[in-house]
Amino acid sequence: MKRTMSGTVDMDKLVSLCKRRGFIFPSSEIYGGLASTYDYGPLGVELKNNIKRAWWKAVVQERDDMVGLDAAILMHPQTWVASGHVAGFTDPFSVCQACGRYFRADHVWELIWESPWWQSLLKAMKGEKTGVDMLNWARTEGTKLAPNLALVTRPEVTLSWLADLHTTFKGVDLDFQNFVGRIGAKADGRVAVPCPVCGGELSEPEPSNLMLETFLGPVRATGERVYLRPETAQGIFVNFANVLTSTRKKLPFGIAQIGKAFRNEITPGNFIFRTREFEMMEIEYFVKPGTDEEWLQRWIEDSFNWYLSLGIAREHLRLRQHAKDELAHYARDCYDIEYLFPFGWSELEGIANRTDFDLKQHAQHSGKDLTVFDEETGQHIIPYVIEPSMGVDRPLLAFLVDAYDEEDPSQGEGRVVLRFHYDLAPIKVAILPLSRNEALVPTAKDVYAQLRKHFMTQYDDAQSIGRRYRRQDEIGTPFCVTVDFQSLEDKQATIRERDSMRQIRLPISELKATLQAKLEGEPFEVLPPGGTYWLGFEV
Ligand SMILES: [Zn+2]
Repeated sequence: MKRTMSGTVDMDKLVSLCKRRGFIFPSSEIYGGLASTYDYGPLGVELKNNIKRAWWKAVVQERDDMVGLDAAILMHPQTWVASGHVAGFTDPFSVCQACGRYFRADHVWELIWESPWWQSLLKAMKGEKTGVDMLNWARTEGTKLAPNLALVTRPEVTLSWLADLHTTFKGVDLDFQNFVGRIGAKADGRVAVPCPVCGGELSEPEPSNLMLETFLGPVRATGERVYLRPETAQGIFVNFANVLTSTRKKLPFGIAQIGKAFRNEITPGNFIFRTREFEMMEIEYFVKPGTDEEWLQRWIEDSFNWYLSLGIAREHLRLRQHAKDELAHYARDCYDIEYLFPFGWSELEGIANRTDFDLKQHAQHSGKDLTVFDEETGQHIIPYVIEPSMGVDRPLLAFLVDAYDEEDPSQGEGRVVLRFHYDLAPIKVAILPLSRNEALVPTAKDVYAQLRKHFMTQYDDAQSIGRRYRRQDEIGTPFCVTVDFQSLEDKQATIRERDSMRQIRLPISELKATLQAKLEGEPFEVLPPGGTYWLGFEV
């Protein structure tokens, strides 16, 4: 069995599987969709809930030092002044004068380099940058790939200007940015950055606020302007005193929260990796100043182990420390846990030392006391905060990529299998009567009725048993229970395990307890009372 490495998973295949099997749909698709917005389908919502449940269990249920919270998305506008988001949450962007697309200024040159038009022009010039090659390109490929590029709209003017320039600076070879800046500008001596998509001129970078706004009250003009929260963290900080008083927690302790957040990203993309509406799983962990670096390391370790415990391959994860100039305005130190997505290493989770920045800011802006009494020193202190912060959508994509496996057809049947950790699998058990024969229906339905009380269960009797096994493999169902004609006499059924395709036969009365044990990690080869190994009906 050959495991597909995540680096080679074909994103298009995965996206199409997600749509076809009901994991993820483009949002409001019947109206043509809304850019970078996605809806989770029947299996997607199960997967997402399972991820959130697994996380909550690990960080709240199984720990003494953690409690949960679910704060509102809309918060007092002053929150965002205190947090620094109103002033600092900006990403400079440029807009294309021709096609109106927005680009993050710090991504533009990379996008141009990768753009189809630049790659095509590079090929056409064969490293020479001769006028003839460029003119030919402008009249052929250029008109298709970069219709608004100055070199394409007025090739003679641009080329004569380039030629002049070449004479003036004889022997000076223009570098990438300089060259592109000149073929992208109208020939009046200026240099312009061309659009990575259409070649049109981009505006000078402008700061933008990444927060989405809305208005409270019936009349927009007089309503109060509020923001859709760009992170869930501030809901935790403003409730710090409430939680402290109601739970009598002592330092160190943390508050976990799962909820939606919104950012008006200029360049969303890569399927559900970067979207404007997303769900977050965040922890603010409050510690005594001086112990913050130690707790930062402990949370990095715990977070790493969480992914491993749910089946992500160790070699697909890595840790990256932020450079000083990358740190957010509130952070003293920050690490990213990165995952090897099909589009490269990208952030899965950030773990930051936010110091006492947030609590101090909120104390100052609200005038409320947000200190904790430290019994050891007899002093009131403002705790430091360690923040493990992640989306739900990104880990979901990582779990999908890591689980995705196409078996080598020369080694067997070429199954597509989502090898989800059992805790994450959307459907735990499928009930498959051997055929649609009416004699099997009452027993099969009875098994279904019993098991669905305990597990997410599907009943499937359409097409051959082999086809039905494949369908369940493709959505990652760990166990298929088959009812056959012999079941009617001996009151036994078979369980087939997804990854190994091995089967055991056991009394129907043992099904629930056995499936429960297997789902909790008991090895498949351990036989239940009255069970036998089975060769099965795999066709
Ligand atoms: Zn454009």
